[in-house]
Amino acid sequence: MMFISRIIMSFLFIPLILSCFFSICQADESVNVSTEVKATISKNKALNLPVIKILPINTDLLTLMAKLKETTTNSHKIQLAVAQLTLSKTPLNAAEQYLLLVAQALLKINSMGKNIDSANIVTLLQPVDKLSKQISEQQLAQPEFLQLHLLLADHYARQKQYEPAYLEKKAYLNKYYIYRKNKRLAMIASLEQSFEVNDKKASNALLESQNKLKIRRVAEVQGEKVAQQYNITLIIFTAIVFVLLFFQQLRIRNTLLRLTRTDDLTGLPNRSALFGWGEKMVLSFASHPTELSVLLMDLDHFKKINDNFGHQIGDQILMTMSQLIKETMRSRDVFSRLGGEEFVALLPFADSNKAKAIAMHINNKISQYDFSALMLQSKVTISIGVATMNDNKMSFDDLLHRADLAMYQAKEQGRDKVVYYQDIV
Ligand code: GH3
Ligand code: MG
Ligand code: MG
Repeated sequence: MMFISRIIMSFLFIPLILSCFFSICQADESVNVSTEVKATISKNKALNLPVIKILPINTDLLTLMAKLKETTTNSHKIQLAVAQLTLSKTPLNAAEQYLLLVAQALLKINSMGKNIDSANIVTLLQPVDKLSKQISEQQLAQPEFLQLHLLLADHYARQKQYEPAYLEKKAYLNKYYIYRKNKRLAMIASLEQSFEVNDKKASNALLESQNKLKIRRVAEVQGEKVAQQYNITLIIFTAIVFVLLFFQQLRIRNTLLRLTRTDDLTGLPNRSALFGWGEKMVLSFASHPTELSVLLMDLDHFKKINDNFGHQIGDQILMTMSQLIKETMRSRDVFSRLGGEEFVALLPFADSNKAKAIAMHINNKISQYDFSALMLQSKVTISIGVATMNDNKMSFDDLLHRADLAMYQAKEQGRDKVVYYQDIV
């Protein structure tokens, strides 16, 4: 019977030894538990886990617990530290009292070894049950609080009280399991949170790059707008310059055209303009026969004036004479310089009588004009040949030729005369 109970006890003892091995392996974990406990609240808050009521623990006490776990020797320093904490006037909370009792028990076990009285340890640790009620389950599951179960399991085992040793070890393992499970959950939650944070960071980076892209696009659009405005301004400016250049070109062209058709000295239409007008008038005569007469006027002895008073005076005589004749012209008449000292007047709606009268008037006007302001010679005369259209088959050349013939006749007759073509044929 005795043999059987020993076998059973040894079977119970094997897991106890294994548990001790595990507890030693986990020793380093409990050293950091002090900070873990403190961090738990903030961590749980951050991870949205239920907030655990954790009582604060004196750091000296935690250090002491770690040292007691590390060594089985009864160090003088450790004894002193336990004594200091025991006699400390600073009030200790339930958790601190709990751990101090465990520390005292550990110290006692370490110092007395196998000789310790089992009742002493149990008596020493009696208040622990009461204190446990003031400590949260989660805090009690922390490694340094689990020391109690290991201690008792070890103690009972030493006392060969295997059943309570087994129960203590079992309690340790259950609580340690809960601790590991909570830790694992916290780690998973932390990982999830860090994953979420990373995910958020990635989406933030994406949003940021999208934002940058948008800013760049806005800048591009603005750039395009500026370029467009610049182009429009350039087009408008070019168009204005083009229009201005076009009008300037038109003005230059008109000026050149006017110059090519104007006599430099007198400002009268020149020979080319005269033929333009003449041919036009002769053409209109062919379609609507009306009166059209021509006067061809030639200064008498102009060469002598040039010779006697100089070419400049000759020019002034030409200008004065052209002005005097111009004054006698009607608005519809065309008065031009044919060349040299010869002038031609085209007189539309003027029959032979009217043309002769105009010629006589011009002749008188010139011969009576006093040129002494320009030269020593006061009088200048002109010879005028008059011709009138009487045939719609006549060209302007023919008409002018007739006036020329009449003018030569006037010269023949002694100058300062008006001769009508019809009178000499
Ligand atoms: P007539 O009475 O026979 O017409 O004699 P005239 O001397 O007037 O005619 P002629 O044909 O012999 O001479 C014309 C002169 O007119 C010759 C030329 O030097 C002069 N003359 C022609 N054009 C101009 C001009 O623009 N200015 C000046 N000052 N003289 C000119
Ligand atoms: Mg002449
Ligand atoms: Mg002459």
